[in-house]
Amino acid sequence: MKFVDLNAQYARIEVTINQRIQQVLNHGQYIMGPEIEELESRLADFVGVKHCIALSSGTDALLVAMMALGIAPGDEVITTPFTFIATGETIALLGAKPVFVDIDPVTYNIDPNKIRAAVTSRTKAIIPVSLYGQCADFDPINRLAGEYGLPVIEDGAQSLGATYRGRQSCALSTIGCTSFFPSKPLGGYGDSGACFTNDDKVATLIREIRNHGQDRRYHHPRIGLNARMDTLQAAILLAKLEIFPEEVAARQRLGDRYSELINSKGLPIATPVIAEGNTSVYAQYTLASTERELLLEKLHKAGVPTAIHYPLPLNRQPALFTEEFDLGIAEILAGRVFSLPMHPYLSEEDQDRIVALLA
Ligand SMILES: *Cc1c(COP(=O)(O)O)cnc(C)c1O
Repeated sequence: MKFVDLNAQYARIEVTINQRIQQVLNHGQYIMGPEIEELESRLADFVGVKHCIALSSGTDALLVAMMALGIAPGDEVITTPFTFIATGETIALLGAKPVFVDIDPVTYNIDPNKIRAAVTSRTKAIIPVSLYGQCADFDPINRLAGEYGLPVIEDGAQSLGATYRGRQSCALSTIGCTSFFPSKPLGGYGDSGACFTNDDKVATLIREIRNHGQDRRYHHPRIGLNARMDTLQAAILLAKLEIFPEEVAARQRLGDRYSELINSKGLPIATPVIAEGNTSVYAQYTLASTERELLLEKLHKAGVPTAIHYPLPLNRQPALFTEEFDLGIAEILAGRVFSLPMHPYLSEEDQDRIVALLA
């Protein structure tokens, strides 16, 4: 059994993937080839925003988004500690300070009610993370950000394909960032990511920063990066995007089925709670239990792969260590969460077997 089964997916779309790759090999435009624009246009339509900018990774999407908004040393950026390192790392890399706000104990996303107390005169942006494939509560976050004139960046690395009150993840704030790391809901065969925005100026800045701050050939008004997506990754993602809506539906069905099975057993295990108005893509199917170590041992002995997302909140990571903030809920949950195998090709038989091991 696999935690994420990329081979099953490849077996299904082998012909289109191979055709798409062959087309790139034939035209030979490996950097910014025609597949980049094609993918950007398809993804912008899918998400329902004006601009998609294809990038080298989800981490670079966060970095480039913050650079486009002018985040600089001394600035503060409000975010959640209950996330992958990239969210805090990119803030720190720009010399800004991650200001951590505790999470909601039900959805595990940043608690909108605790953000106001964290705003100072140095706050320059808010970065909610849509964890495990469920969007953070963007309406109150955007309202508060509007009051203070702050931009909001969604870290949607895990949530592409999820919806919030009928709108797609990555269309919910100033900039949406996502990742196409192979195991994400829409994954490539290597690293890549994207930014989404309706703001023309921000989109132009992101495009320039992606390509060494260049506005025309060999003319560089600003410092940028090499943060371009490879043409081959765009070609692969175009093939995968065709089946993505079906895969999202399969994820939702399997995620809901996991929860029904587990809840019907009346076990002392917390299943994911999808907030009203949300749909989740279950990038991770994550449970919480005070008996985590025991359960993990049972699963490992039976050959079921598991993962912990994430064993430490970012404030406890040596690279970002701080005791400045009250993050009690994130710290408790980091000691309880664990994730089960989850991908669109997981069989009901495997799911039944996994759930039987939890009792
Ligand atoms: C995966 C992930 C990232 C980073 O994406 P990469 O493409 O691996 O750089 C950022 N934030 C979150 C929440 C993630 O899960």
